[in-house]
Amino acid sequence: MIIRARTVATMDGPPIEDGAVAISGNRIIDVGKFPGVSARHSGQETVDLGEQALLPGLINAHCHLDYTSLRGKIAPQKSFADWIRAINAEKAKLAADDYLASITDGFTEAKRFGTTTVANLTAFPELVSQIKSPIRTWWFAELIDVRSPERANELVDLAIKSLKSEEKWGLAPHALFTASVNLYRRCEEIARRQNVLLTTHLAESREEMAMFRDGSGPLYDFMKSIGRSMDDCGQETPLERFFNPAPSTSLRTGSGRALQNWIVAHLNELTESDFDLLEASKRKFHVVHSPRSHGYFAHSRFPFKKLRALGFNICLGTDSLASNESLSLFAETRAFQRSEPGISPDKILEMVTVNAALALHQENALGRVRPGFQADLVSIPYSGSPNLFEEIVAFDGPVNWMMVNGRM
Ligand SMILES: [Zn+2]
Repeated sequence: MIIRARTVATMDGPPIEDGAVAISGNRIIDVGKFPGVSARHSGQETVDLGEQALLPGLINAHCHLDYTSLRGKIAPQKSFADWIRAINAEKAKLAADDYLASITDGFTEAKRFGTTTVANLTAFPELVSQIKSPIRTWWFAELIDVRSPERANELVDLAIKSLKSEEKWGLAPHALFTASVNLYRRCEEIARRQNVLLTTHLAESREEMAMFRDGSGPLYDFMKSIGRSMDDCGQETPLERFFNPAPSTSLRTGSGRALQNWIVAHLNELTESDFDLLEASKRKFHVVHSPRSHGYFAHSRFPFKKLRALGFNICLGTDSLASNESLSLFAETRAFQRSEPGISPDKILEMVTVNAALALHQENALGRVRPGFQADLVSIPYSGSPNLFEEIVAFDGPVNWMMVNGRM
C-alpha cells in the first residue's frame, strides 16, 4: 500500500513535499517523493491523504491510564501531600471494573489525538491480560511497598507473573518516598537479567526535596504519619538518594545503576550539587517532562536547557488525568512551547517521536518515517505554509487519519 500526502515530516531529514510512504504488512518499506515511490511499487493500492502532513505516530513517554476517569475530579491542592490524600480518596471509590473502563477509555482518547505508542504505568498489572490495547503499549507495573517493605521481592515477582506474557513490559518503583531501596534493587536486578525497562518518579516536588534533604515539610509529615521509616530523610537530595541508595556499596557517580534502562519522570527539583552529580555520571538515564501536569502542580521550573546541555534525552508525557485535562500530546507540545519559546518546533516534535523512541530502546523501529521502521503514522491538516513544524505543534484536535502497526 502507498500513502501519499502533501508533505511527509519524516523526522529523518527534511520534510518531503508531495511525499509518499510504501507499507508492506506492519513495516514501512519505502519513503520518498510520490512519483518515485509509486513507480517503484506500481500496482499497489494508493491512499491519497491530500492536503495533509504525514508524520510518525506520537509516543507518550509517561502516562497512567488507570486514572483516566479522574479527569476534573481533583482541584489543585495546597500541597503535594494533600493531592496524594485526594487521589487516594478517589481511588478508594473505584473497583477493578472501573479501572478496566478507565484504561480502555484512555486508550481511545490517546489514539484519537495521534498517539500510537504509550509508556503506561499501571498499579494493576493483574488486569492487563483482560485489556486489548489498540496502540503499542509498554506496560510498567507501578510498585509501592511503603506499607509493607518486607514484601518488596514478593510484590515485584507477582507483577512480573502478570506482565511476562505481554510483549512489552517494564517495572516502575513508584517514587523514593513510596518504594523501598530493596524494591528499587529488585527491579534493577530483573531489568539487568531480562533487559526490561524501568521508570520512576523523581525529584518532582519541592516537598519531596524538603522530605529527603531537610527531613521536614508536608510530604515528610504525611509519609511519617502512615508509618514510613524516615531514616533516609534529612541528609540527601532525591537525586543523591537515587544515585546512591546504599552509601557503603555504590558509587556516587551513578555508574552503579543500569542507567540507560531508566526513564525518569519529572526532575523539577535539582540543586547545584545535583547538576554536578548529573554531569559526573557517564551514563545517562532518559527524562520525561509533563508540561501540563507540571503546570497543574505549579512545580519549580523544569530545567530543560541545563539537562539538555548535559546530554540528557528529554521526552514529553501526559502523566495522568488526575493532574491533566486530556491525553493529547499535541497539547503537551504546545504547553512546552509556551514555557520554552526559544526551542524550535521541530525539536519539540522530536520529544514525542525520536526522543521517546530512544527512551524505549526503539530508536531503530519507532519515531521516524524510515524504511524498515514500524508502520505507525498519523496525519493532520497542512496549509502548505513554510512553517510546517510550527503548524504541527500548534495542531489542536483529533488527528484525521492514522495507522498503527500497518493497520488503518
Ligand atoms: Zn506519573
